[in-house]
Amino acid sequence: MFNFIKKTFSGLQKTRKNIVNAFSNFHGKKYLDDSEIEELESVLFQSDLSYDLISDVIDEFQNKPLSGDESWEDRFVNLLKTKIGKLDQGIDDHKIFLIIGVNGTGKTTTSAKICKYYKNKSLKTMLVGADTYRAAAIEQLKLWSKKLDVKFISNESTKDPSSIAYDAINSGLKDNYDKIIIDTAGRLHNSVNLMQELEKLYKVSSKFNEKIKVVLVVDSNVGQNGMNQALEFSKFIPVDSLILTKMDGTAKGGIALSMLDKLNIPIDFIGIGEGVDDFVPFDLDIFLKGLISNE
Ligand code: GDP
Repeated sequence: MFNFIKKTFSGLQKTRKNIVNAFSNFHGKKYLDDSEIEELESVLFQSDLSYDLISDVIDEFQNKPLSGDESWEDRFVNLLKTKIGKLDQGIDDHKIFLIIGVNGTGKTTTSAKICKYYKNKSLKTMLVGADTYRAAAIEQLKLWSKKLDVKFISNESTKDPSSIAYDAINSGLKDNYDKIIIDTAGRLHNSVNLMQELEKLYKVSSKFNEKIKVVLVVDSNVGQNGMNQALEFSKFIPVDSLILTKMDGTAKGGIALSMLDKLNIPIDFIGIGEGVDDFVPFDLDIFLKGLISNE
C-alpha cells in the first residue's frame, strides 16, 4: 500500500503544485475572503475539476469558517469524498480485456502495464495485438511481450481485428490463461467505420463464455475532452472502466474526479510515466490526499 501512495503522489506532482500553494496561503485562517475564494476557484479550474465540483467546493468554503481543529484541506477532501462516493470495483476476475481509445492515449503501453501488473500477481497473462492499422503498434506490443516474458498473439496476414481477437481468446481460454489483454487500434468516435469495427470486435469477443471487460484509455492531458471520449465510445460499446494515462505530465489531474462524478464509470488505474511499472491502481482516498499533500 505504501508503494501505491508514493506512486500516486509522484504522479500528481504537477496537479498538486498549484493546489498546495493555494491551500498553504489559507493556513492559519478560519475564514476566507473574496480574493482567497477567487484564487481557490481559479486553481481548481486549472486542475480541470468540473464546474459542478468547483461550485460545491466554493459553497462549502465561502462564508463558512473552520470549526475546531478542522483544516481547509480536510474540508476539501471530505467534501469530494462525499460528493464522488466510492464506485465498488471489487476484485477483477475478468479474463478478457479489450483496450480501447483514441490514438496516442497510451493504449499499447497500458496493455503492457496491465499485463505486468497481473503477472506480478503470478497470473498467467497474454498480450494480443489487434491493431491492424499500425504495424508499429503490433511490433511495440511484441517487444513488450518479450521483455515481460509473456505469450503474444497477433496475425499479420489479416486486416480483421475481430478474427485476431477470436483466435486469441479461443486459444487463451483453452490454455487456461487468467488474463488475455487485447490492444486495439486507436479510433475517433466520429469515424463511423472504425466504430462499427469496434462493435463487431466486441460482439465477436463476447461469443465466449467469459464476460469481456472494456477498458477505455484516456490521456489526462486532454482534460474535459476525455469526458466526451467516454460518452461517445459508450454509445457503441459498454465501457466498464477507465485508465487515465500521463498523469505525471499534466497539471489537470482533477479530470479524474470530474469523470468519476459525471460518468459513473470506475477508474481502475492511472499511468504515471512511460515505464512499465509507472502504473498504480486508482484509490480515491489516496488520490485526494495526493492533491493536497505537502510531501
Ligand atoms: P497508443 O497509440 O494509444 O497505443 O499509445 P502508445 O502506447 O504508443 O503511447 C503513446 C506515447 O505515450 C508513448 O510515447 C508512451 O510512452 C507514452 N505514454 C503512455 N502512457 C504514459 C504515461 O502514463 N505517462 C507518460 N509520461 N507517457 C506515457
